[in-house]
Amino acid sequence: MSNHNSLYDGEDDPQVKQEILEQARRKLMEMFGNLEHEVPLLLFTDPQINTQYCEAARSIIRAVQELTNRVSLREFGLSHELAQKYDVSLSPTLLFDPEHFAIRWLGAPVGEEGRTFLEAISMLGSRKNELSAPSRDLLAKITAPRAIRLFVSPTCPYCPQQAVNCLKAAIAKPEFVSLEIIDIQANPDLAEQYDAFSVPICFANEIMIARGAQPEELFMASLLKLEQQNIFIPESDAEQVDTDLTIIGGGPAGLTAGIYAARSGLNAVIIERGALGGQVALTPVVENYPGFTQVGGKPLVDIMVSHALQYANIFPDEEVMEIKVGQPFQILTNRRRYTAKAILLATGASYRHLGIPGENRLSGRGVSFCSTCDGPLFKGKEVIMVGGGDSALTEALYLANNDVRVTIVHRRERFRAQEHLVRQLQNKNIDVLFNTEVKEIQGDKKVEEVLLLDNKTGKTSARPINGVFIAIGYEPAVELARKTGVALTEDGFIKCDAGHRTNIPGIYGAGDVEGGYKQIVTAAGQGAGAAMTIFEDLVTPYWKTKKA
Ligand code: NAP
Repeated sequence: MSNHNSLYDGEDDPQVKQEILEQARRKLMEMFGNLEHEVPLLLFTDPQINTQYCEAARSIIRAVQELTNRVSLREFGLSHELAQKYDVSLSPTLLFDPEHFAIRWLGAPVGEEGRTFLEAISMLGSRKNELSAPSRDLLAKITAPRAIRLFVSPTCPYCPQQAVNCLKAAIAKPEFVSLEIIDIQANPDLAEQYDAFSVPICFANEIMIARGAQPEELFMASLLKLEQQNIFIPESDAEQVDTDLTIIGGGPAGLTAGIYAARSGLNAVIIERGALGGQVALTPVVENYPGFTQVGGKPLVDIMVSHALQYANIFPDEEVMEIKVGQPFQILTNRRRYTAKAILLATGASYRHLGIPGENRLSGRGVSFCSTCDGPLFKGKEVIMVGGGDSALTEALYLANNDVRVTIVHRRERFRAQEHLVRQLQNKNIDVLFNTEVKEIQGDKKVEEVLLLDNKTGKTSARPINGVFIAIGYEPAVELARKTGVALTEDGFIKCDAGHRTNIPGIYGAGDVEGGYKQIVTAAGQGAGAAMTIFEDLVTPYWKTKKA
């Protein structure tokens, strides 16, 4: 392998090498002047394996030792008892202060990774990691082991950022976080085993949690949730937040309203109790949002949230308990109080239930309302998807694409979903039972069987099944509106005029809770329209004009 012969460009040019060493020396002097703690390094090598990486590791350690007496190095063969003690089998493997930390480097910290090595020594020697306050909060929530494997390359300029994130976590939380930094050039087999063909790529507990380098807080959030996070919203401890407009609901309507309102000059905030993006976040694929021929629901939400965050503060995981009508309005959540001149209710909708025996009891035990969340658990298994609208078909396609054997069960003989989806369903040969209703879901600890009624023949039959996915539409989330005295339509949606005004001056509605076409693009449009009306009304309050 030719790339094993050269560790990094320029190493053979004495002038370049001298310059690099000089720069490194100055930096090291600065970094290592006041190290309080010893940093014992243990290097494990085999003279026959990766010899140039072993020598490179020794060189960089020696260079550091010339500048500080706090770094010690002991070298052992792979058959030494300490190799067994620390479960080391690859050459070279460098352990950093293994009595206190679980940090190891497979390969040599050279090239771009030299920076990471210096940071590691500096942080270990000073026990300082300069974590931001939000990162510390996120790390504090980790209460179970996290075994990190980070794949890097000496020629990757993005890798040190992610490696330093990992180091900070492993140094700040040694009781739970262990770290293995793996140089893919020295360890091509391991890289192949993990499909680490693009670096940096990070795994924790064998789950891929990040591709590419992340800001520190996003890395800590990904480590905490064991899932790549693309957005980080810091928590606020303010007891009262004064606003012009408080938007309740962080789906496409609320997020768009936040952007429009703030751009009009209003101080707008968005409060969301559940998943930002609402139903869109759980939609596997969106094919009808302009500008994107095909985009995952979650990535689309991430883009919208990042956009909205540039204008409005978002308060996630917060539930509005009560609205006190008056000027200003007072909005009480489970965390704090908001005041607002206007309120936009963009509370969206929640899953409709079948209301049949077994549905609630077996929810989470084979009954699911979210194929993107739970679909992968049913790989190779047999499930039914109940419903005949866009959601049922989109989600059935998603399941089939994930090797789940899915049959659609629909109560009529025609779908109401878009023709485009029906064609895709036929192309995939997904089975459909038309004119069929699910009457009961059975099973002891998990779903085992469904009772199906053929509503043409009146015959009932039992069908063994592993899972029941339900996508039969949504009910508008109007509890808060109802409690506040906002009038509803006969169909149960918030009753609004063309400007999205409700019967209570200063309270508005937008998105699925207001009814209409219930598309992402129409919800966004309703949010934009509502924000513009609100701006105009706050400049020229129609309720005051009426009174005059
Ligand atoms: P939907 O369009 O209201 O369809 C609900 C489906 O469930 C209908 O087929 C309905 O049957 C069936 N259903 C309702 N109650 C039932 C019950 N108690 N038992 C059995 N079946 C029942 O809901 P959706 O599919 O969730 O879509 C909601 C909105 O989001 C729609 O406007 C849709 O266009 C939009 N959406 C769009 C996309 C996309 O464009 N990619 C994806 C998802 C959703 P009947 O036909 O007999 O009434």
